[in-house]
Amino acid sequence: MLQEAKKVLKTYYGYDEFRHGQALAIEHILHKQNTLAIMPTGGGKSICYQIPGLITDGTTLVISPLISLMKDQVDALQSLGIQATFINSSLTMEEQRERMDLLRQGAYQFIYVAPERFESDYFLSVLNQIHLSLIAFDEAHCISQWGHDFRPSYRTVVDRVKQLHVVPTLMGLTATATDLVQDDLQQLLEVQPDHIINTGFARDNLTFSIVKGQDRTAYIEEYVRFHKEEPGIIYAITRKQVDQLFYLLQSKGLPVAKYHAGMSEDARKNAQNAFIQDDVTIMIATNAFGMGIDKSNVRYVIHYALPKNLESYYQEAGRAGRDGAPSECNLLFSGQDIQTQKYLIEQSEMMDEKKKQEYGKLQAMINYCHTGKCLQQYVLDYFNDQTNSEDCGRCSNCIDDVEKVDRTKEAQMVLSCVKRMGERFGASLTAKVLKGSNDKKVKQFRFNQLSTYGLLRHYTEKELTHFIQFLVAENYLLAEEGKFPILRLNQKSLAILKGEIPVYMQVVKVEKKIAEDYNVELFELLREERKKIADENGLPPYVVFTDRSLTEFAR
Ligand code: ADP
Ligand code: MG
Ligand code: ZN
Repeated sequence: MLQEAKKVLKTYYGYDEFRHGQALAIEHILHKQNTLAIMPTGGGKSICYQIPGLITDGTTLVISPLISLMKDQVDALQSLGIQATFINSSLTMEEQRERMDLLRQGAYQFIYVAPERFESDYFLSVLNQIHLSLIAFDEAHCISQWGHDFRPSYRTVVDRVKQLHVVPTLMGLTATATDLVQDDLQQLLEVQPDHIINTGFARDNLTFSIVKGQDRTAYIEEYVRFHKEEPGIIYAITRKQVDQLFYLLQSKGLPVAKYHAGMSEDARKNAQNAFIQDDVTIMIATNAFGMGIDKSNVRYVIHYALPKNLESYYQEAGRAGRDGAPSECNLLFSGQDIQTQKYLIEQSEMMDEKKKQEYGKLQAMINYCHTGKCLQQYVLDYFNDQTNSEDCGRCSNCIDDVEKVDRTKEAQMVLSCVKRMGERFGASLTAKVLKGSNDKKVKQFRFNQLSTYGLLRHYTEKELTHFIQFLVAENYLLAEEGKFPILRLNQKSLAILKGEIPVYMQVVKVEKKIAEDYNVELFELLREERKKIADENGLPPYVVFTDRSLTEFAR
């Protein structure tokens, strides 16, 4: 059977080899086993249901919450000479009726619908009249209340499907691999443990970087100028940020479009199309942009500001490199963003319990920006993905020179300061005390009389706050969840205070690492080349070659 699947892969799609997990998923489906396929974005999930659909008789029904993607998928199938269509609210009633008739006559090999279609009894009765071989639930995490895009209407589809006279093979596909979602989907779709395929969701072609301490606008301008031939997305938090960046880049003659919820539907559609068709290469957007947009050759995603949590970040960054080619995900970190995100949580209408959760998730996002660990591994750990435990070797933490600086003494000072302050305050006041600030609050609590007052005065307050965040990120210190996370000591803090654990911080030296990996002469050449291009383009050298282009060049 797999032989045949492989032939189909070659003849229809032109690929020689299955990707990780595809063959197994196809095999289970061909054996009529309900299957759950968890693969990263761009991992090739569509083929997992399309190939069985092509091999077996009968119709394959694909349920997708993303109306905007249906047309693309169907167009792709039709262009391969496959009988496929979609039925959704973007069609006139007449068109819908026509397609329903053809469906009833068994004319389609593939049919794509949105979950809402299942509210119609007529639709169900038609399904009962045809030979339905497979139902694929695309973006299946939307079925689960634990998924980040839970859609109640999608969940009820499962009950409706189970009312069919003959329940076909069921398949769930998602890139969300948390245990809760996985367990939930497994139960709902009645999948046996053996038939869960989880390839993890490490993205081997993505390079994650955190960029700190740079003028963000200047960084972006220079970055996109150098990459203006390649499609890329820049995410900002607010509409205002989007507008400002857009007008700035536009005024510099760069091929840019913008997208946010404050624009008219037409304007948004035009911007989206321009980007998808490569009329412009730079898309500046809020997180309203992206869901349901299938552009496989996005070469970079830059986050201008801190996202609200790692779930959103990984999803947005993951829109880069869906075609498998090397792509970059750069997050520009600035401490102010933490306040913005907190404000957004505070302003929202969530229940207190939910707000607390959101603060916790935000803290994990902040930790990501301060960790010294491999960034890809950090994300995988966060999602409890144990399928892969090697450092990626590409992210800004992996590639940074591992020359470590001993910061044990400073850490001890911070920790004892936290202790002396009674473990009742947050990072910013602690930083003030260590700095020896004349702040009102410092005096009010008489912290200027502590022995730790001004102990680290040779650092800036910002550096101290960063350092405290770093200690939290490394779990050397605890930050309680909440709007103003209170610092507390944990077991590790005590061990550090006793001198049992040393504290190291890494120093960023990208170039040195590359020089070592390849060779110094080549690196000198690179440096000259880099300088030349920078001069020609009137750019400062630091953005001209990013890690990715440098490494590629060196190869
Ligand atoms: P997902 O739904 O998992 O995000 P897609 O099904 O949209 O991913 O596939 C992403 C890209 O990978 C598509 O361009 C697809 O043609 C390509 N692809 C899928 N399977 C293979 C394969 N075995 N070899 C090469 N490319 C593949
Ligand atoms: Mg998909
Ligand atoms: Zn890494």
